[in-house]
Amino acid sequence: MKAALVGADGALLYEARRATGRERGPDAVVESILGFAAELHAHGRERYGTAAVAAGVAVPGIVDPDRGLAVYAANLGWRDVPLRALLGERLGGLPVALGHDVRTGGLAEGRVGAGKGADRFLFVPLGTGIAGAIGIGGAIEAGAHGYAGEIGHIVVRPGGPACGCGQRGCLETLASAAAVSRAWAAASGDPEADAADCAKAVESGDERAVRVWRDAVDALADGLVTALTLLDPRTLIIGGGLAEAGETLFTPLRAAVEERVTFQKLPAIVPAALGDTAGCLGAGLLAWDLLASSEVSA
Ligand SMILES: [Zn+2]
Repeated sequence: MKAALVGADGALLYEARRATGRERGPDAVVESILGFAAELHAHGRERYGTAAVAAGVAVPGIVDPDRGLAVYAANLGWRDVPLRALLGERLGGLPVALGHDVRTGGLAEGRVGAGKGADRFLFVPLGTGIAGAIGIGGAIEAGAHGYAGEIGHIVVRPGGPACGCGQRGCLETLASAAAVSRAWAAASGDPEADAADCAKAVESGDERAVRVWRDAVDALADGLVTALTLLDPRTLIIGGGLAEAGETLFTPLRAAVEERVTFQKLPAIVPAALGDTAGCLGAGLLAWDLLASSEVSA
């Protein structure tokens, strides 16, 4: 878990990290979050003389921000955890905003990170899986049921590799950092080799690595072109482990996207700027937004 004290201008004032304690079960994770938030709250009061005025929390899985529920997270064993109410209680009645981890990270990238100033953007982190956040006018579109932006489950190779979602040939089975790691481990014969090793091998001209990399970039471009055909974003922000390959990824990716578009306008394709603090900063922005909206309605 990452937590931070965030100023009204989005500045990161203080940052801390700790384990979720998930090996001790779902209740232990909830307790870790509540305890961590309470400590940060106390630290803020001591160090800055004024306590935090609101809290934001971003969690993985399925989230219902309106009801303040963490609905489901397979890796945490969660079912309908009333996180907003629990956190508000622990923090002495402080207003609390709840968000989804990728969409919250996207909010930060769009507002204070790589998409700063972009009215419409798409944030796509390439990590263990592939997710997405659709930014429109300073907010993130969650969809009617909280599933908007799941670009990792666009089918780009019908009948392709089986995906955890039950479909075959989903983008994340071909172009996530985990997928590239698997493909390069198989191609190189080194079970320990990962996506970063593959990128290095591409840079040194290894032909097997170039093939693995090209397959992933082609699949990624196919998925991204579907997304930009629907959304017409001004900026396409690519993050996650695979984006750490820098121009080894971005140069062929821009070319592959450009090759595929016909009438569509090309967005700027840029690397994410905030790294793994995006979620933290985004949760802070959600908290500030919550205060702003309650001031307006009060
Ligand atoms: Zn899938």
